Amino acid sequence: MVDYKQIGLVNTRAMFAKAVDGGYAIPAFNFNNMEQMQAIIQAAVETKSPVILQVSKGARDYANATLLRYMAEGAVQYARELGCPNPQIVLHLDHGDSFETCKSCIDSGFSSVMIDGSALPYDENVALTKRVVEYAHQHDVTVEGELGVLAGVEDEVSHAESHYTKPEEVIDFVTKTGCDSLAISIGTSHGAYKFTPEQCTVDPQTGRLVPPPLAFDVLEGVEKQLPGFPIVLHGSSSVPQDEVDTINANGGALKAAVGIPEEQLRKAAKSAVCKINIDSDSRLAMTAAIRKHLAEHPDHFDPRQYLKPARESMKKLYIHKIVNVLGSNDKL
Ligand SMILES: [Zn+2]
Repeated sequence: MVDYKQIGLVNTRAMFAKAVDGGYAIPAFNFNNMEQMQAIIQAAVETKSPVILQVSKGARDYANATLLRYMAEGAVQYARELGCPNPQIVLHLDHGDSFETCKSCIDSGFSSVMIDGSALPYDENVALTKRVVEYAHQHDVTVEGELGVLAGVEDEVSHAESHYTKPEEVIDFVTKTGCDSLAISIGTSHGAYKFTPEQCTVDPQTGRLVPPPLAFDVLEGVEKQLPGFPIVLHGSSSVPQDEVDTINANGGALKAAVGIPEEQLRKAAKSAVCKINIDSDSRLAMTAAIRKHLAEHPDHFDPRQYLKPARESMKKLYIHKIVNVLGSNDKL
């Protein structure tokens, strides 16, 4: 049993309360490797932002759960080394798929877990989430539940269609489960292909695809039911077109990749939405930088030569999100 407090991590409780009050959102960035982790921590320290390090099932399979946990412990020390004496860092399980997965993360030092029962019938989602909450709260670990289904593909989480959260269900769900935050579905979507071209309109000036707007009426309905309760948005990458263009100009073939416009996320961050998950944008920034570097330097073969600009590019992206989209800078 590892106590996350002893390794300098925090849970989400105080962080979310402050974010809801302050009208900003905490960045939840996924990480799978050292360069992403370094970029996230450098960005958080430089902007004085709290940050949630997210680990998905895919990340656990790719990088090994034990290594990821020690990397998070290292991240706390690294932030201090970079000049942040009291970093606010959460180690969070993204899309926990069972009680056992959540328990193993809690036992190994995670400070927050998500239990995603959103694909289950309502009563089973309630029962599973409640069971995780009961165990997590014994260890002061916070729990994110999910109601409503997001479309898209994220590691092993995949749904063809989205189902918006029903605002009339949220009080019952939160009361019965005791969860600390709730992921809802209002039209965000996992992955870099959030919408089909048929779902989009075309901007006549740029010829780019414009996605359908988020369902702010559903968000407002949820806020009315649960005033001040921390709400989470998954699948909130914006899929920057310049990164997609760089990838395609250097041998890539990403077609019709579409994300959530940043002005909509900015609006959401000012509401009870206090955690916004961003993963695909960092993948795009990393891949664009690597493709560009290798195209310009065909003689390079030392991974540090192309991972260094990739890390710089991710850091720039994280700082941009923190300062210009979420507003979580200068909150430490
Ligand atoms: Zn997600």
